[in-house]
Amino acid sequence: MRKVYNFSAGPAMLPEEVLLTAQSEMLDWHGTGMSIMELGHRGPEFKALADKAEHDLRELMKIPPNYHVLFLPGGATTQFAMVPLNLFGEDASLQKADYIDTGIWSKKAIAEAKRYGDVNVAAQTELRDDYFVIPEQKQWNLRDDIRYLHYTPNETIEGIEFNWIPDVKVPLVADMSSMILSRPIDVSRFGIIYAGAQKNIGQAGITVVIIRDDLVKEPLPFVPTLYQYQVQAENHSFYNTPPTYAWYIAGLVFDWMKRNGGVDAFYARNKRKASKLYAYLDKHREFYRTKVHPDNRSMMNVVFDLPDELTKRFLDESTAAGLTNLRGHRTVGGVRASIYNAMPEDGVDSLISFMETFVRKHG
Ligand SMILES: *Cc1c(COP(=O)(O)O)cnc(C)c1O
Repeated sequence: MRKVYNFSAGPAMLPEEVLLTAQSEMLDWHGTGMSIMELGHRGPEFKALADKAEHDLRELMKIPPNYHVLFLPGGATTQFAMVPLNLFGEDASLQKADYIDTGIWSKKAIAEAKRYGDVNVAAQTELRDDYFVIPEQKQWNLRDDIRYLHYTPNETIEGIEFNWIPDVKVPLVADMSSMILSRPIDVSRFGIIYAGAQKNIGQAGITVVIIRDDLVKEPLPFVPTLYQYQVQAENHSFYNTPPTYAWYIAGLVFDWMKRNGGVDAFYARNKRKASKLYAYLDKHREFYRTKVHPDNRSMMNVVFDLPDELTKRFLDESTAAGLTNLRGHRTVGGVRASIYNAMPEDGVDSLISFMETFVRKHG
């Protein structure tokens, strides 16, 4: 049995079952006498593993057949560059995109895209009655002649999540790193979905990219080969040696999700976990405060404050109680409980009972 509940935002907790399987297969993967790490990526065994992972993800997310599913090296940050590099095209007057800025990851994506073209920030998180809120689409300053609209459905650091999908005619690009597979989504609404693996998919070092086939185009000649969606799609993510172990872990996680009821079952559990925690915060809002508007509260990253002078003590005592990595991101401070798919409901219950003891002692 594991000794702690790890509330880290990423790399995040993995299902115990997945880790135990990886452990048991470490020295001899499926009778090959080799670790999966030692197995050639071009052999039939790894090919079968890669195909199954893609197939399972397609099934879990109901990905339509006109989308490619890529498993690419690098992080979501790599996609901050690949998206503009591949979608801007040759015509300099059309190297334009709009971005929605809801937090730190949006800002990083914007800064990167600005290196390659004309980027307009069409909307930003606002402070309304002391709460952070995402403005409605009718308030956005969207342009018509853009190649795509980019947004971040869940801001991992601030704990701000969209509860709706923007409705636009241009391709919609979404950084789903910290919410992919947490709830059902209609993939057909998107041009590109990407997600670094270390939150809800598996281990760091691999990024899932789901891209509609009409967006896989001849890239500009200067784009590095490995950064071309076209090359990656034509080679089924095997142009060079892919991060095989990370791909393997992702496959184990997909399989685990399928055996545990798929996305709908995880969504039901995630909703329960998050609403318990937020209900507890609301009940004690004199002590624990969340600044995110109820409409935009993240289901995966629950961010809150408590009286400043008690934060360090809260973090020390929670760690000692086996509830680890609750420290908020260094840029926002406070507390952040990341409760991804792999966090059991028990972990959230333990956190709430710790918070109750803490508020009784110090509140
Ligand atoms: C973690 C995260 C990233 C960064 O991912 P890397 O794999 O470190 O590049 C980007 N966007 C979001 C929303 C994230 O949560």
